[in-house]
Amino acid sequence: MDILIIGAGIAGLTLAGELERSGHAVQVVEKAPGLRTEGYMIDFFGAGYDAAEHMGLLKELEEIHYPISGLSIKRSDGSTRYSVPYPKLRKLADGRHFNFMRGDLEHVLFKRLQGRVPVLYRATIQSFQQDDHSVYAQLSNGSEWSGDLLVGADGIHSRVRKLVFGEPEGFIRSLKLWTAAFTFERTALYADIQNSFDLLTEPGRQISIYPLTGDRIAVFFLLRSNKLNARPTREEALHELATRFGDMGWLVPDILQRSGTAADFYFDAVAQVEMPQWTKGRVALVGDACHCVSLLAGQGASLAMAGSYTLAQCLTENDAMTALTVYENSLKPQITEVQKSARKVASFFFPDTKFQLLLRDISMRASVVPVLQPFFKFKSIRLPAHSSKTYT
Ligand SMILES: Cc1cc2nc3c(=O)[nH]c(=O)nc-3n(C[C@H](O)[C@H](O)[C@H](O)COP(=O)(O)OP(=O)(O)OC[C@H]3O[C@@H](n4cnc5c(N)ncnc54)[C@H](O)[C@@H]3O)c2cc1C
Repeated sequence: MDILIIGAGIAGLTLAGELERSGHAVQVVEKAPGLRTEGYMIDFFGAGYDAAEHMGLLKELEEIHYPISGLSIKRSDGSTRYSVPYPKLRKLADGRHFNFMRGDLEHVLFKRLQGRVPVLYRATIQSFQQDDHSVYAQLSNGSEWSGDLLVGADGIHSRVRKLVFGEPEGFIRSLKLWTAAFTFERTALYADIQNSFDLLTEPGRQISIYPLTGDRIAVFFLLRSNKLNARPTREEALHELATRFGDMGWLVPDILQRSGTAADFYFDAVAQVEMPQWTKGRVALVGDACHCVSLLAGQGASLAMAGSYTLAQCLTENDAMTALTVYENSLKPQITEVQKSARKVASFFFPDTKFQLLLRDISMRASVVPVLQPFFKFKSIRLPAHSSKTYT
């Protein structure tokens, strides 16, 4: 089949690589000028781990994995309240778990298809039409494409979704949280940041600081805000960060000063995408575009990979129309459950009150006690049985 994929993030690159391996002709279109390095350290487990295993990627993922030693919960003066060893947390995913930077995963996926799949950067889709046999797309560089299938892998603010299903308001469930992340070179001030996630949480705001290779430091903010709209500008985001975190102690004043000049500054709303359908005619959505679970579920990238891997398998074994139906039916109900459970545990990841913060601390400490660990298992899904094939 001839397939056009819009978006070269985790979902788009996974799908492109798998389809090319199965002999399909694939073209990818990405609006960014090249590979994107922005983003924070992600947890990677569940169905995405299964997909990576079937794709033969575990060795590459092991190489980008950060063997973080623990989670260190800080007071506002930087002293440690308590620590939780990360290897014990990893047991909550039965040891099938990685930590790596989102950009490093994108790089691994890109390397697999480099030279085999054309990726057109600095471009997007303008419009499309479809009939019973084909899809026709007009791209922003003036070129036209026609083929069997159009896939929107263009993330939470998907343009393909908008073109097919209409305005985002009906599909995006705001969690009224925002996240920011960026990195910078280590200075003497950060001497104490050593191989752990250091986390300072106060009701309604949270910052974590952790080390990266190459003597760099990464920071990750979460904040509750009623002021920001769904897609604030960088200036609005920086202003809100400064206002909300300006009175925090520890390393926060220095970090805020750096935020304005960070080259890889990432800021976005924390939200979920809920769609009545993931496909329409010869158009399919994958990853965040159709089922963003949000960082509260801790597995957005993993599910994006699992969804793309499943769609690729379906397209290799069926005609296009059957493939889209099997893809949607086999994953949508399960991912909807992941979304619900993420909303239920939201106050654990992000306490809004002192009482929720207290409960978070009690649960965090209990989660590494061996006899209690079965109650804290990471909620994840497994790959559908028909997708569980390993390439040789
Ligand atoms: C740069 C970046 C940083 C991120 N950092 C975080 C983070 O810190 N915390 C967090 O929770 N989640 C983050 N995410 C989201 C996270 O990567 C996703 O939840 C997850 O990986 C699912 O991946 P996806 O491929 O479906 O979507 P995404 O990772 O969002 O990838 C979508 C891709 O499509 C491209 N794209 C978007 N619109 C268009 C368009 N109109 N035309 C062409 N291409 C388009 C984007 O540039 C991107 O490369 C980040 C995403 C990106 C792109």
